[in-house]
Amino acid sequence: MVKIYNFSAGPAVLPKSVLERAQAEMLDWHGSGMSVMEMSHRGKEFTSILEKSEADLRTLLSVPSNYKVLFLQGGAIAENAMIPLNLLVDKTADYVVTGSWSKRSVEDACVFGQIDIAASSEAENFTHVPAYASWKLNKNAAYVHICTNETINGVEFDGLPNTGDVPIVADMSSHILSRPIDVSKFGVIYAGAQKNIGPAGLCIVIVRDDLLGRASKQTSAVFNWKTQADNHSMINTPPTYSIYIAGLVFEWLLKQGGVAEIERKNIAKAKLLYDYIDSTDFYSNNIKVQNRSRMNIPFFLADESLNNAFLEGANQAGLLQLKGHRMVGGMRASIYNAMPIEGVQALVAYMKDFASNH
Ligand SMILES: *Cc1c(COP(=O)(O)O)cnc(C)c1O
Repeated sequence: MVKIYNFSAGPAVLPKSVLERAQAEMLDWHGSGMSVMEMSHRGKEFTSILEKSEADLRTLLSVPSNYKVLFLQGGAIAENAMIPLNLLVDKTADYVVTGSWSKRSVEDACVFGQIDIAASSEAENFTHVPAYASWKLNKNAAYVHICTNETINGVEFDGLPNTGDVPIVADMSSHILSRPIDVSKFGVIYAGAQKNIGPAGLCIVIVRDDLLGRASKQTSAVFNWKTQADNHSMINTPPTYSIYIAGLVFEWLLKQGGVAEIERKNIAKAKLLYDYIDSTDFYSNNIKVQNRSRMNIPFFLADESLNNAFLEGANQAGLLQLKGHRMVGGMRASIYNAMPIEGVQALVAYMKDFASNH
């Protein structure tokens, strides 16, 4: 059987050891006689799982003590509504559009109040992050929203803008835990789990204390970050099994040496693929070099009539889900934390082979 490497943008590859551990613990978690799926969310077993997941995430990202960590539902897209519900009251907000996901965030937020576009790279087909000095920021805005890694377009922020006292709200769904970050530079960080964390549906929100308690009156308790924080993400039944799997991924990351070590591996993986793409006219990537994503790498064949042949051959070689997003076309290799360097080596070897045969 050929070895399979899964390049899906999400839901995406998980560490094999995590899946094996979940399998081993499926019927009887730690001698409890129950599967994690069957446990009361308020019982001592699940409470210990939730507490350990949060503690390990805090360790991995060095989350300061004045930030709350929430385990919510509805994926990252639900937060597109919860952010304005929780922060926008009586104010305006600045959004920066660097790709499909931040564009969607604007569309979702508009219904709640005045959203201003501080900068956009749409006219250049989302091939870079607009220079920070060019952003038209309003110093009275409630927040500035950015997406620090655009999963579909393959654009990643290098550094951060200075927004003064206006908190930055960042969608980090597709590169959270792939590199160290300074959490204290953000007001809110949110991430859907299905890229670098675990099962789809779970969304992690890291929010600074002083931003809690500003929600509009129409915000029901389940969507209110403050009531969720006050109730340890248990204002209703949380997605218990997803939190358990996320916790196993956090343990795996700690065992890998933490985020600094995984970043070293991610840099090496991305360099391998970009260096090869840049070395040949057969393939191309058109993102400004300093904004090229380490996680999501779109690329095009010079002769697009070979796309189907490329994908068919890739499948036969065990290289799965390389088709580009329909809005961008071409190919896309998502190489998240759980993708081993061997997978990228196999992809590059296949790409070389395909190029020399065509
Ligand atoms: C995948 C993704 C989303 C959407 O997440 P859902 O779980 O489908 O809500 C939003 N933003 C980014 C950056 C993503 O990669």
